[in-house]
Amino acid sequence: MQTPDGLDDLYQEIIIDHYKSPRNKGTLAHADLRSEGFNPFCGDQVILGLGLGADGRIDEVAFEGQGCSISQASASMLTGQLKGMSLDEAEALVKTFKGIMAGDELSDEQEEELGEIAALQGVRQFPIRIKCALLGWTTLQDAIAEYRKTHA
Ligand code: ZN
Repeated sequence: MQTPDGLDDLYQEIIIDHYKSPRNKGTLAHADLRSEGFNPFCGDQVILGLGLGADGRIDEVAFEGQGCSISQASASMLTGQLKGMSLDEAEALVKTFKGIMAGDELSDEQEEELGEIAALQGVRQFPIRIKCALLGWTTLQDAIAEYRKTHA
C-alpha cells in the first residue's frame, strides 16, 4: 500500500477508502472553473472541474487524476465538501487546510466541521507527502484565481 507507515489506523482506513473509491471522479461537460495541478515530487496529477449554479454557488464537482494514495484521497475528500459552497467559502476552506498542513492545531469544533478531511492531519508526520495532500487544494485555488481574473 502506498500510504506511509505510521499513520493512525483509522486515518489509513479513510484515506485508502477514498483512494480506492474516489468520490466525484469524472469530467464535467461544461465546467465554469477548471484547473490542472501537478506535483513533480511524486508524479501526482489532479484535474478539477467545478460548475456554478445561478446563485454563484458550486453545484457540480468532478476530478480526474492519478498518483499516490494521499494525493488522490485528499482530492476526493475535498470534492466531497464543495457542493453548495460559494467561491469565498471554498477559498476559506483551502486556507484552513493549508494551515493544518503547516501545523495549525484544530479545535474540536473545526475537526467536526472538517469531518473526514481531519484524517489528513496524520500526513504532517511525513513532510515530503504534504505536497501530495495539498495538490487538489492548490488546484482549486488556481481554478478560483483564474475564474476571478476572467470574470472580474
Ligand atoms: Zn504523492
